[in-house]
Amino acid sequence: MTPTSTLIGQAGDVSAAPRSDYLRPADLDEALRLRARARGAVVVAGGTDLMVAANLRGWAPAALLDISRVDELCRVDDTGGLIRLGAGVTFGTILHGYAHRLPGLALAARTVGSAQIRQRATLGGNLATGSPAGDSHPALLALDAQIEMRSLRGARLVPLADFFLGPQRTVLAPDELITAVLVQPHTGPQLFAKVGRRSAMAIALCSLALSIHPNGQRVRVAFGAAAPTARRAWAAERFLVESMRAVGGDTLPAELVAEFVRLVREAADPIDDIRTTADYRRHALGVLAERAVCRAWREVQCD
Ligand SMILES: Cc1cc2nc3c(=O)[nH]c(=O)nc-3n(C[C@H](O)[C@H](O)[C@H](O)COP(=O)(O)OP(=O)(O)OC[C@H]3O[C@@H](n4cnc5c(N)ncnc54)[C@H](O)[C@@H]3O)c2cc1C
Repeated sequence: MTPTSTLIGQAGDVSAAPRSDYLRPADLDEALRLRARARGAVVVAGGTDLMVAANLRGWAPAALLDISRVDELCRVDDTGGLIRLGAGVTFGTILHGYAHRLPGLALAARTVGSAQIRQRATLGGNLATGSPAGDSHPALLALDAQIEMRSLRGARLVPLADFFLGPQRTVLAPDELITAVLVQPHTGPQLFAKVGRRSAMAIALCSLALSIHPNGQRVRVAFGAAAPTARRAWAAERFLVESMRAVGGDTLPAELVAEFVRLVREAADPIDDIRTTADYRRHALGVLAERAVCRAWREVQCD
């Protein structure tokens, strides 16, 4: 079911047996039509997850649906007070073009792979892969991100907190594309930090994002790689809002910081795996939480 007008070649190692048809839609309408009709086709955006997996396993899908030339997916717009990031926006673009408007997400983008990876790797690909260690996930949870998905059946918006079903599992239907991510613009401190086995080109052993909106009325704390999916630490968020109200403009007392850290650790559900232990993840998450809350609080006091 591949229209010959769009079938422009074959991908893969020319010397290896597995071959894939290659579909490259020119616009979003064509991409959605192909997504609906060519059911065996696998979407490829930057290819930094997909092609690595394909090469490692010597695997080739029946067809590749390359959405990297779909302009509509690569735009950043302001809409109804929100910033709409196309799913095809790369981490390089976020880091170099939007750090002033989305500082927390830019900090996360900065830790993704290398400059070469960030040049190709897209926000949509990072979400669709559904890795619990995806660096954009906690940063986007801290921004109350909503995921826009489209198919020929229509469009829908899902809060990021409801998008992941488990490791590598999302609510994305087989005929849908992620088309955009909608986030709140920057209004207060936004932080992101991750612990890896080295300081660059490292998958997160754990990561944490924190955002505080003006006057401390709304706080978001989210972490990655320490549960089956990235998740918010709801009790820690509520505790910090109450603490900030009680403390006013003063320094956060050490016992409040310690309780905040305890609540973040309690929200985690980490595992032992080849990279590290659950105990280390929980410990490191607490260290990130303590540093983040102290730094964010200093920023709030300076504003
Ligand atoms: C050396 C290296 C280092 C890396 N370091 C990091 C890191 O530090 N942090 C991190 O988080 N990740 C890292 N990654 C993983 C990867 O770069 C990211 O997950 C990236 O964001 C994936 O985006 P992509 O556009 O390359 O996705 P692709 O590889 O093109 O696709 C990934 C998956 O998403 C699907 N998909 C892509 N776009 C869409 C869409 N719009 N709608 C529906 N489905 C879609 C594809 O079908 C595929 O299943 C690294 C990868 C490499 C190779």
